[in-house]
Amino acid sequence: MFIKERVRPVQLDLLPSLLNRLPSSHPGYEKVQHHLRSINAGFGGEQYVDERLRHMNWDVPHFIVCDLNVASGRTFCQIDTLVFTPHYVLVLEVKNFSGTLQFQGNRYQMTRITREGDEEGFDSPVSQVLRAVKEVRILLRKAGLSLPIFSAVVLPYARTIVKGTTDDVPIVFSKALPLFISNLPTTNPLVATEDLQFAAEKIASFHQPFIPKNFSSRYEFTLSDLRTGVICADCGRSAAKQSIRAHYCHACQMPILDGYVSALRDWRDFISPLIRSSECQTFLQLPNKNATYYVLKNLAERIEYGLWRIKEL
Ligand SMILES: [Zn+2]
Repeated sequence: MFIKERVRPVQLDLLPSLLNRLPSSHPGYEKVQHHLRSINAGFGGEQYVDERLRHMNWDVPHFIVCDLNVASGRTFCQIDTLVFTPHYVLVLEVKNFSGTLQFQGNRYQMTRITREGDEEGFDSPVSQVLRAVKEVRILLRKAGLSLPIFSAVVLPYARTIVKGTTDDVPIVFSKALPLFISNLPTTNPLVATEDLQFAAEKIASFHQPFIPKNFSSRYEFTLSDLRTGVICADCGRSAAKQSIRAHYCHACQMPILDGYVSALRDWRDFISPLIRSSECQTFLQLPNKNATYYVLKNLAERIEYGLWRIKEL
């Protein structure tokens, strides 16, 4: 039973908007594309493993928590999948990589060789799992549970080739996950099922949603690099204004409703939670102060979250 389902990463909505704002010649453009592809692949792989776990024949009661983000001091620890049973807790780190993965014991690096033969270095998922296990130990203590912890790195698809070995954390293909789980020790239950569910729900309640920030430093752009005005989300071209609420994309031949609201969201997400009316006028390509005042007064309140605030209305 899943007590916390996986949520679509917000970057899958934010990064396409950023790609529309950045000119394709910008040095950060490719990096954004690359991250978007890897987040998409990662999410797809995690969903695939979720479905395997959902349709497995379990012979023990179990509670599954997906995508748990917990703050540990100033840093976040992200745990892909946690399986609670009365006998143990299982920590799974899902990694969807294509090509060949080269592991070297528990060294902190993993090398990936792409199908094209390029070599890339990554943080080893093994060290990520070891960090997650440490965090889970703290969470279990907080929830009053005393259970052994097992862990694995899960590769969703068999097309990934693995070379080398890892010392402490096994690497398991998702097809072999039922066999791996059935081999985990299940002697006498160490906790009653109701108490286990209560504790797992308590641990799930520690989740803090991850809100990505600092796009400008990560992808090395400044305000002046970004395209202004209302942009068609489908094709990335500039849209023509029809009224304060409606724009039109001539390329897609489609109306765009509330293009100004989307543009203000882009400002909030990629530039700042604050906006001055002069900045709004420039960014939305508004003709004068009156139009800017109208937009800020009537539309800006529809920006939903964050520290969004308008200066000098
Ligand atoms: Zn379009």
